[in-house]
Amino acid sequence: MTQIYPKVALIGLGLIASSMFWAMKRRGVAGHVSGYARSQETRDTARRIGLCDTVCDSAAEAVTEADLIVLAVPVGVMGKVAAQIAPYLKPGATVTDVGSVKASVVGMVAPLIPEGVHFVPAHPMAGTEHSGPESGFATLFDNRWCLIVPQDGGDEAAVERLESFWQALGSNTERMELEHHDLVCAVVSHIPHLIAYTMVGVADDLRRVSDQEVIKFSAAGFRDFTRIAASDPTMWRDVFLTNKDATLEILGRFTEELFALQRAIRTGDGEQLFDYFTRTRAIRRGII
Ligand code: NAD
Repeated sequence: MTQIYPKVALIGLGLIASSMFWAMKRRGVAGHVSGYARSQETRDTARRIGLCDTVCDSAAEAVTEADLIVLAVPVGVMGKVAAQIAPYLKPGATVTDVGSVKASVVGMVAPLIPEGVHFVPAHPMAGTEHSGPESGFATLFDNRWCLIVPQDGGDEAAVERLESFWQALGSNTERMELEHHDLVCAVVSHIPHLIAYTMVGVADDLRRVSDQEVIKFSAAGFRDFTRIAASDPTMWRDVFLTNKDATLEILGRFTEELFALQRAIRTGDGEQLFDYFTRTRAIRRGII
């Protein structure tokens, strides 16, 4: 039991915030946890299931006393939420976020953080295809990476404290530079989600294969490959709109590879296909 922050405020009560709450409680990482979500329905659900020690009806009320404030809303509204809470932050407090994109979030949030309050962006590399206040669970962050993206000239002690917090929640932490974070995440998360969404779209568009057949025979690859296409559309719309450069770069490379494979299939170039699959299989087998 290591209490890192006496008072934590969670803004947005979805998958990530609710998992943080259950992990904090299980591991004694925080004293009191207050929470706020924009919709009355989410706040009612949170109260019903005991998510947060106090569920507040305004963001201002949730953050006033907090030592750590976690922005756990979709990336596109991080700036709006930061503007709402900025006047109520306690001097010496730390604001962090859990957004999947960093450059644009930092651009939106950093200018709004008052003097004397620290801002330490972070990104837990953990998730599921589920969303909302009832989707969280205490072990989501166990043995997963949490990337910490310190601000230039930021307070080192505040960064180290947030690292200790994520480690106490069960994660491994690594520091990463802003733009590099967005490129890494485009490769390992953002483009895979886009392709999964596309696979479902293609199956739906192909009138000669019925939806019933897709469902019935999906164990042949479709089911595993497209699980993440059940993810929240608001979150993913925001990720692509805010990580435009990196996702377009990786998408460009992906389509190049796809065109090369398309040509190999059309020309019957078995050697190219075999070599490609052999190389990529070896890489994939190295990932546990
Ligand atoms: P979610 O959809 O489960 O929850 C989002 C929450 O934010 C909801 O409670 C919603 O009511 C609330 N919200 C939306 N707009 C708001 C506003 N203006 N003010 C206050 N509350 C508002 O989403 P999630 O999966 O928990 O994602 C939250 C953040 O974490 C996102 O920025 C996302 O990029 C990031 N993230 C998600 C995953 C994942 O796999 N789901 C992984 C890592 C990071």
